[in-house]
Amino acid sequence: MTDTYTRLVSKGLGRDVAKKLGLPQPAALRRYEPGQPLSNGPVLLEGSSPGADELAAELLRWDVDVRRHAVPRERLGGIVLVLDDVESPDDLEKPVLTAASSLRDLAPNGRVVTISRAADGSPPEVAAARQGVDGLLRSLAKELRAGATGNGILLADGVTATAPAALGALRFFLSGRSAYVDGQFVRISSASGELPADADKPLAGKVAVVTGAARGIGAAIARTLHRDGATVVAVDIPAAGDHLAAVANEIRGTALQLDVSRDDAGGRIIDHAVRRHGRLDIVVHNAGITRDKLLVNMDRGRWSSVLAVNISAQLRINEALLASEHFRSNPRIVSVASTTGIAGNRGQTNYAASKGGVIGMVRATAPLLAGHGGSINAVAPGFIETEMTARMPFATREVARRLNSLQQGGRPQDVAEAIAFLASDAAGGISGEVLRVCGQQLVGA
Ligand code: NAD
Repeated sequence: MTDTYTRLVSKGLGRDVAKKLGLPQPAALRRYEPGQPLSNGPVLLEGSSPGADELAAELLRWDVDVRRHAVPRERLGGIVLVLDDVESPDDLEKPVLTAASSLRDLAPNGRVVTISRAADGSPPEVAAARQGVDGLLRSLAKELRAGATGNGILLADGVTATAPAALGALRFFLSGRSAYVDGQFVRISSASGELPADADKPLAGKVAVVTGAARGIGAAIARTLHRDGATVVAVDIPAAGDHLAAVANEIRGTALQLDVSRDDAGGRIIDHAVRRHGRLDIVVHNAGITRDKLLVNMDRGRWSSVLAVNISAQLRINEALLASEHFRSNPRIVSVASTTGIAGNRGQTNYAASKGGVIGMVRATAPLLAGHGGSINAVAPGFIETEMTARMPFATREVARRLNSLQQGGRPQDVAEAIAFLASDAAGGISGEVLRVCGQQLVGA
């Protein structure tokens, strides 16, 4: 699965030449496998707030080797920087520079996670300190090397650092599940959610529907939700029926041949899940298409087909879900957007309109699901190695692959891991958010 360039520069002469010329040398990323330890070394927890003390106690319960003070030259699996009490930009100096002196000890594939508060609604000086963490973390993520990543958890006012979704996000960021998530923040808006009894089976007992599951990212999502304990309904168009059946059989789920842009798609999905599996807990809107053309050459067919599959179908299915009595017990919706919907991309106005639409839809739908303990979020992949991106012209593909902090494309699995996390009970306090899985793409927004 490693691309040719990465193979060339990872050993022998290729490695020496790449080093001399200052060419990118992508690291092999540490990806999650069941049973793997949460962190690949001790975790240094910096910060002096009550939240930091409570978190240290929690990490110990997870069998993590926690340090409250750096041990010289000890290889660290992670550094957690708790900044939830900063009230002025001056407050950043001490904790940040203390953590800085340990950065050299971060192991390959190590993790830096900040925990701070969302800036909105606070007085100017407090907001300056809180927003400062944003710039700090995004810059630090660009400085880290050897597969190490930096991500942040933003607590809304009134939410503690040990709220279930904050702990869930911390586990996600420390673990190999977040291998291709870099330079991102996730906002915890409430204390909703519940940590799973078994960290390796967080979706045990759930029934999940995944659209576009016959191949690519959708197939990886279906396999990952199954691995995490869910029973999966794999949905795709009839023309992909053979591949769909193969995926469904492999994960002991069921296949539903359905074009998601049909008017009755929502009803058919609910009926199938309830009839075959007795319930419906999770819907992942992954099915998507591209029909690229510069806008100046855009025709109605290309525009309307992309909008129909990528956003109108999701809106209509969600209407059916929101109206259904079968989708009322902590329901989860996760939509696949794209960094193109955030930063834009030449030749993709139709696709970007549809994916920007997904982000708008997710934000507006979040309050509608809150009443039932539900959540809806989007995951925005950057460059992921699939059949969709294999069709890109060689030079464009090679540039897209390298222009991110991790200097490589992501794998379908990486997107699937983020979706599995947002679909879990632990993530209940996260809703209306967009989580990018893009290795911290360097171009665009
Ligand atoms: P893919 O083309 O490999 O797979 C898409 C799947 O969706 C196919 O199995 C297809 O048959 C199915 N599908 C298409 N139209 C459908 C319909 N009307 N009803 C039901 N199923 C339908 O694509 P992928 O790369 O795996 O992308 C999956 C999702 O991720 C898409 O939403 C895509 O926009 C998004 N995405 C991909 C990348 C990337 O780099 N590959 C980046 C950002 C976002």
